[in-house]
Amino acid sequence: MYKFSYFLFILILHIFMVNSSASIQLPNETAVERFIRYVQVDTQSDPDSESVPSTEGQLKLGKMLAEELRELGLQDIEIDEFGIVMATLPSNLPEDHPARNKVPVIGLLAHMDTSPEVSGANVNPVIHRNYQGGNIVLPGDETQVIRVEENPALELAIGSDIITSDGTTLLGADDKAGIAAIMTALQTLVRNPDQYTHGDIRVSFTIDEEIGTGIGYFDIERFGADAAYTIDGSTMGEISNETFNAKTAIVRVTGRDIHPGYAKNIMINSIRIIADFIDRLPPDISPEQTEGREGYMHPNLLSGTTYQSEVRMLLRDFETDGMEKKENFVRSIVDELRLKYPGAEIELEIRESYRNMRYWLDDDPHVTEYAKEAIRRTGLEPNLKPIRGGTDGARLTERGLPTPNLFTGGENFHSRQEWLSVKGLEKSVETILHLVTVWVEKSIQ
Ligand SMILES: [Zn+2]
Repeated sequence: MYKFSYFLFILILHIFMVNSSASIQLPNETAVERFIRYVQVDTQSDPDSESVPSTEGQLKLGKMLAEELRELGLQDIEIDEFGIVMATLPSNLPEDHPARNKVPVIGLLAHMDTSPEVSGANVNPVIHRNYQGGNIVLPGDETQVIRVEENPALELAIGSDIITSDGTTLLGADDKAGIAAIMTALQTLVRNPDQYTHGDIRVSFTIDEEIGTGIGYFDIERFGADAAYTIDGSTMGEISNETFNAKTAIVRVTGRDIHPGYAKNIMINSIRIIADFIDRLPPDISPEQTEGREGYMHPNLLSGTTYQSEVRMLLRDFETDGMEKKENFVRSIVDELRLKYPGAEIELEIRESYRNMRYWLDDDPHVTEYAKEAIRRTGLEPNLKPIRGGTDGARLTERGLPTPNLFTGGENFHSRQEWLSVKGLEKSVETILHLVTVWVEKSIQ
């Protein structure tokens, strides 16, 4: 009943707004309200899809966002053939302002898709008001518990609201928190022109970040920013100017198949050879046993029959020589196995995924410095944190657009225990507002 009357109210409000004059200003929407709306659009990406974007839901959210950008009064709004949304918030600096022709064009980016690892359909966001500490049991599946000992960021959220899913899906803070933060910052800039001065701002909502393919379709020239930020990080105060170097090693073994009853001295079981390969990987150089700046080797996909088996393995390291060592280690195991199993065919393929963006960001240290200054102005201490993974920013930076990553307040990405600190989200909005101002100030110093 409550819900029905609420919908009726919205309906009447809607009819009222449609029929009244266009000059009526739309109500301000908070970052939380936006976030709650965005997570209800299922945008889970699909690594097995042939289409771009990989799923329809991303197009649906993209259209919704483009419409909202239009309502906010942004310009050059477009959705390209791949579903990537771009728009401009033109500079509000007066003609005679000394920064008018000096301030670089700043880009703000967030990705629309969610991880393929956990369902993003029918997300039912739950707001836990005024969190006072302790574990959080998710109401839709009580086996899903957000534990204090696994979540140091919970302590920072005491006194704040926390948003989770009901425990049956992921939440989608990665990266709808980033979208909500950007949209809310834009709304604030548009409606308070006297309070914030800024140069031209370019905005983009991107596709298929989680499957690593979307950014390949991103037109950097068309975007036209001089520096950019992905709003796709985690704990409040964090900024990242480093990602892993990332490669994938694929080991494929072809053995010899024959009826097991007559297999003596003939069969070569590829499954046993693959098992031997995995057995030689040092268990302590794994994601389960590393943290901070340590790299790892991580077999994450295995398939096989007696005749043919394959293992895929992530190689991650922050340093080039560390990555080389890992590659050489894999090559040496494969060489040993070729000697041990001469009848089998053992192939090794190593593919590069992305490289540590620090190599390029070190050439433009001010891009990171200005973000640190913006975070400081929100009252937080900036925390430079290497990302134990990749971001779209890694590929953009390598292609010439310096793009560090800023926090959103979200935690436990890609899991049913994903959660968002509302305080963190609000600080993310504030950081963006300060950031565009910092760029104006610094451009005339
Ligand atoms: Zn993300």
